Amino acid sequence: MDTKRVVADFEDWREAVAEAVALLENGGLVALPTETVYGLAADAFDAEAVAKVFEAKERPSFDPLIVHIGHKRDLDIVAKVPKELDEIVDELVSTYWPGPLTLVLPKKEDVPELVTSGLETVAVRMSAHEVMRAVAKEIPVAAPSANRFGKISPTSADAVMEELGGKIPMVIDGGACRDGLESTIVAPEISEKGPVLRLLRPGPISREDLRKIAKVIKPKKTKADHIEAPGQVKSHYAPTTPLVVIDKPTDFVAEEGVKYGLLSYRGEGNSSLMEATDWAHIEIMSPGKGKLAEGAVRLFYCLRKLDAAGVDIIISESVSETGIGVAMMDRLRRAAAGSEQ
Ligand code: AMP
Ligand code: MG
Repeated sequence: MDTKRVVADFEDWREAVAEAVALLENGGLVALPTETVYGLAADAFDAEAVAKVFEAKERPSFDPLIVHIGHKRDLDIVAKVPKELDEIVDELVSTYWPGPLTLVLPKKEDVPELVTSGLETVAVRMSAHEVMRAVAKEIPVAAPSANRFGKISPTSADAVMEELGGKIPMVIDGGACRDGLESTIVAPEISEKGPVLRLLRPGPISREDLRKIAKVIKPKKTKADHIEAPGQVKSHYAPTTPLVVIDKPTDFVAEEGVKYGLLSYRGEGNSSLMEATDWAHIEIMSPGKGKLAEGAVRLFYCLRKLDAAGVDIIISESVSETGIGVAMMDRLRRAAAGSEQ
């Protein structure tokens, strides 16, 4: 199959959206830009279309999808918000939607089981990207990241083409993603002391941001062979090249004859590995002094370039685990775990 690439520029993104909606209404798939990473969308209420998402991504059916809606009021179409959570959900939605925050809530009966992998909960979000939002206003879509399962998430239409070109009918090219890392996922829950937020996946909305609304608690522990809250698949976002994350510069000792690539945070400074060996390829996450925010936007892009550079091992520096740095280290560790297999 040929993958049609439609550029959603300032002039004609509405036309691109109309074309995407027509395709989705006919049970087709479209890769769409969001502020986090590109998503692979299908009509959320069409189980056959959703099955095609799993097929294109080679994704196991135990890993549920996120449903994107276009209006806050559409939350009722996919989720049943329990009375006790009404207030906290309202606060989260009015503070962070549209934006990179996904809420896990009890699902409405007619959301297909395939979307939620048989769970009684559904993950919902409202994207801040005008293209995804315009599409979701017409038709709520189930849209996981537009990459093959376990691989590096795509933050550009080029990356989508590398991952899924020839396997899907259309991608809308909306340029580079603003945040560059997947949405924060939280499950609001009731505890003895009132509502709490169970943080299932760190992301652009930081723990500090969430704490302003309620107490933040850890995800439940999952056993390797039994996934209860699928947000925690240990290996993910993985390059094909082995990746090793270095905590402190002294932990890295280069071996003779190995071609190393470096993923550096800022390319300089005390904790930098720039001078540690004769690197075959270097990518710098934040070359423009943009710090963690810039690093987050460029992390998957840099990882993809290093993976294509023909090195034997990719070595990554660590970043400080504050704000978006928590999500960056989460992705790097899972990418390293995935590349070992
Ligand atoms: P992706 O968009 O590819 O990052 O995939 C969506 C992710 O959302 C899944 O891997 C899960 O981690 C998470 N997710 C979706 N639905 C649920 C749910 N009902 N409970 C917990 N996590 C979920
Ligand atoms: Mg993904």
